[in-house]
Amino acid sequence: MDQVFAPWRIEWVERDGDGESIDGCPFCVLPERDVDRDSRIVARSARSFVLLNNYPYNPGHVMVIPNVHEAEYAALDEATLLDHARLKQRTMRAVDDALGPSGLNAGMNLGGAAAGGSIDDHLHTHVVPRWAGDTNFMPVISDTKVIVEALDDTWERLRDAFAEQAGATVGGDDEAVRLSFD
Ligand SMILES: [Zn+2]
Repeated sequence: MDQVFAPWRIEWVERDGDGESIDGCPFCVLPERDVDRDSRIVARSARSFVLLNNYPYNPGHVMVIPNVHEAEYAALDEATLLDHARLKQRTMRAVDDALGPSGLNAGMNLGGAAAGGSIDDHLHTHVVPRWAGDTNFMPVISDTKVIVEALDDTWERLRDAFAEQAGATVGGDDEAVRLSFD
């Protein structure tokens, strides 16, 4: 029997031992924190940001998230819709350049628990790099330290790839790359 592939069922979860706990919506709180490397935010545009999934299906599993706290895709205004789409495209390019996967999956859970998401009131698009014969990274690599090292490494590689893109501004070592699409 073929396995149903649904990497977006693997949601962002807060890791124990990773410092402060988050009060409220993590996708609203993390971008406000101003510690991008620790928060694992790797790129930001005017209205969206790219966050590494800290429970990755594969290395390079990220989410592209509008800044606005909104559950309904249909409710996004035009400017946010376009900014989010542009950042998705840039993210796919960065993942390709940084990690050279054989393919990508991209998708979102909408409509709450029925769709499989756990943070269902702040929409987000998963981008998951795929390699031939890959297997869900988390069950295979169950050592938390190894996962954290892999996340740190992925953050560095993606940050370097975003930094090469048109309209990129690179700040301090711990800051996300800022992208301007104008
Ligand atoms: Zn939110």
